[in-house]
Amino acid sequence: MKLNEYRKKRHFDVTPEPQGAGSAEKKGNGSLIYAVQKHMASHLHYDLRLEWRGVLLSWAVPKGPSLDPAVKRLAMQTEDHPVEYSDFEGVIPAGQYGAGTVMLWDRGTWQPERPDVDASLQAGEIKFTLHGKKLQGSWVLIHTRGFGSNPDRSTWLLIKHHDQYASAKDVTQEEPRSVTSQRLLAEIARDGGGDIERASMGDPAGKG
Ligand code: MN
Repeated sequence: MKLNEYRKKRHFDVTPEPQGAGSAEKKGNGSLIYAVQKHMASHLHYDLRLEWRGVLLSWAVPKGPSLDPAVKRLAMQTEDHPVEYSDFEGVIPAGQYGAGTVMLWDRGTWQPERPDVDASLQAGEIKFTLHGKKLQGSWVLIHTRGFGSNPDRSTWLLIKHHDQYASAKDVTQEEPRSVTSQRLLAEIARDGGGDIERASMGDPAGKG
């Protein structure tokens, strides 16, 4: 997995996003990074990121994760991101790829159920456990053939498994703040010189 596509899309003299040192070196205990970034770009979505082989495998989840095992959430696989991206929160300037406000919504570690993640990717089914602040327990990503007349290789579904962390709680609505800075999107936009009004459209009404 390479970061070519990630780098090609971005102008690092303009965007504050990390370029990625290219070093896949692991620090510490060997646990794998998990993160979700709430991203108010042209459309609001939640970027799920799972560290694997020195990059972050990435899926854009338009409606965000659901704790309800009956709910399947569309997850579009996007380009691999550098591991350093899991620290990023801020404003991507207007005119740049992904322009808008990025919140570090959740972060922690993850464990694949099957050690060979490449094989799981290939098979189109990744079962895993999340150890985040907001998302925990057992989940699955399932590759689908896309919907209707628009089959797309990048289309997956994100589903919570039944376990003690499954819940009817609407986690995106009830826990709308940054896991690290406790800020709402509008506050991140304000601090980063972004479009506050647009960012606030991604915050729950009445929380600002
Ligand atoms: Mn995004």
